[in-house]
Amino acid sequence: MSRVVLVTGGSRGIGLATAQRFAALGDKVAVTYNTAAPSGDFLALQCDVTKEADVERTFTEVEKTLGPVEVLVSNAGITKDALLLRMKEEDFSSVIDANLTGAFRVCKRATQSMLRARKGRIILVSSVVGLLGQAGQANYAASKAGLVGFARSLAREFGSRSITVNVVAPGPVDTDMTRALGDEKLQAFADLVPLGRIATADEIAGAIAFLASADAAYITGAVLPVDGGLGMGH
Ligand code: NAP
Repeated sequence: MSRVVLVTGGSRGIGLATAQRFAALGDKVAVTYNTAAPSGDFLALQCDVTKEADVERTFTEVEKTLGPVEVLVSNAGITKDALLLRMKEEDFSSVIDANLTGAFRVCKRATQSMLRARKGRIILVSSVVGLLGQAGQANYAASKAGLVGFARSLAREFGSRSITVNVVAPGPVDTDMTRALGDEKLQAFADLVPLGRIATADEIAGAIAFLASADAAYITGAVLPVDGGLGMGH
């Protein structure tokens, strides 16, 4: 396999594990980072997904260097947690802008060449919180739930061109994002998970790689939970 893969937010955590997974499969991988470039066997490009011009520059650079993007993993995301009464409008809108509108920006740009090629794979990284909800994360949960309706709409728009659009919904994963919560809160999350532990970033990368594989050619509009059973029932 030597597909052109673009992973947004590939500087650390789930995005970096995903980029490493695709590189190990023999794909040509580009990652975007916002603040600090990662090192690895991939092309690293600075791109703030909240800026349309950054997204345009990134795709143009990937196309020039590696070719048109065939697999897009929209993974970049942030949290700005607060209980609703303390949540500022900026906390809400900035999370929507990065997590949901950011996905819109990169998907819109990626589908230009996918439509020409009449094939493509798009995987959006949502969260178990998008379906379960989480006190203190109304902004984040709204952005992650929004990705599901967004992905399913694209799946319908682009199905006839053999472009699949799927969502991965991780539970708690061992990354900087969760480490910021502190050990006690993290253990409390792990205790809620039927499998009794949080995930490794590589376990999420495996599910993403599956959705980009030939075995997943007939899967589109799906939400794949990778959450140790935390969100089951939805
Ligand atoms: P992380 O370690 O905090 O990494 C976040 C990544 O997103 C970094 O590469 C960061 O770039 C990038 N990023 C943030 N804002 C960006 C922006 N405006 N433009 C471009 N890139 C931006 O997070 P993670 O835990 O790996 O999470 C990755 C994805 O999985 C997120 O969408 C998150 O919501 C989702 N998720 C995580 C968990 C979890 O438990 N960790 C669970 C469910 C879903 P810089 O390094 O340059 O800042």
